[in-house]
Amino acid sequence: MTITLATHQGMCFGVRDALRKTHDTAASGPVTVLGELVHNPVVQQHLETLGVQRADLESVGSSKTSRVIITAHGASDRNREAWREAGYAVTDTTCPLVKKAHAALALLVAQGCQPIVIGQAGHVEVRGLCGDFPAVQVVQDEGEVDQLSFAPRFGVVAQTTQPITKVRALVARLQQRHPEAEIIFKDTVCQPTKDRQAAMERLCRENDLIVVIGGRNSNNTRQLGETALQADVKVRQVETAADLHDAWFHGVDRVGVTAGTSTLDETVQAVVARLKQIDLTQRASSPVGRLAPIIQQAAAALF
Ligand code: SF4
Repeated sequence: MTITLATHQGMCFGVRDALRKTHDTAASGPVTVLGELVHNPVVQQHLETLGVQRADLESVGSSKTSRVIITAHGASDRNREAWREAGYAVTDTTCPLVKKAHAALALLVAQGCQPIVIGQAGHVEVRGLCGDFPAVQVVQDEGEVDQLSFAPRFGVVAQTTQPITKVRALVARLQQRHPEAEIIFKDTVCQPTKDRQAAMERLCRENDLIVVIGGRNSNNTRQLGETALQADVKVRQVETAADLHDAWFHGVDRVGVTAGTSTLDETVQAVVARLKQIDLTQRASSPVGRLAPIIQQAAAALF
């Protein structure tokens, strides 16, 4: 069984920076993260060992510590200010590429566009994006695009972790539905997501089964899995090496491995090591593998 790691996979700079800032802040006293710092249970458990607490971003005042952290997914200005006004010291770890999406949306609203966000309604990043603009409409598939009423000018941005091919297809669909409307599209899908998606497409062309490593509630991890399904390649999503089952790999010759942007390098390495172990076990139990000691003994007797 060959095991190929995607050329671009795993933790992005935005999540790394947010984790580092949280470590530094936690080192100097009690602190509370407003939400999940990243959608990854391994990271969450690690933060708990540092004594980092959790509270709800939307429930201002719910933190038991006087210092709070806004996650890499960002927050609306309204929410950020509400925490400051309530007397909390706020450390903001919003990824610069999420801030770029906020700025693009604010500009489109200022230009008089009907604001549209392509993304997963209810996701923390999307809630933060929409929080300052009550007129925003969130869409994530063709059916939802088709429901949009006519506006003379649409201003469209995307959640940073959406597949760019899907985003472009939905923008084209909107233009098709309302040919007389002006559509201004700002591509806010982040480069790490684009790189991981492109690497995943290559991986799908070259492998029989893909293992995607990441949290079950991580949007970009789920999107990687969907890319494999669309390419008609078998996919298994795991959070840690312990989730792998030997039976998944019976008769599989080529396995591709990728990971979402909140997955630790250590988790990726552990999954690859476990896959190598599964391969060795399977080879040892194959007919050729079982004959190997006999062949070795015969060879030793002859020479
Ligand atoms: S996925 Fe993209 S936008 Fe999100 S934290 Fe990583 S680099 Fe930033």
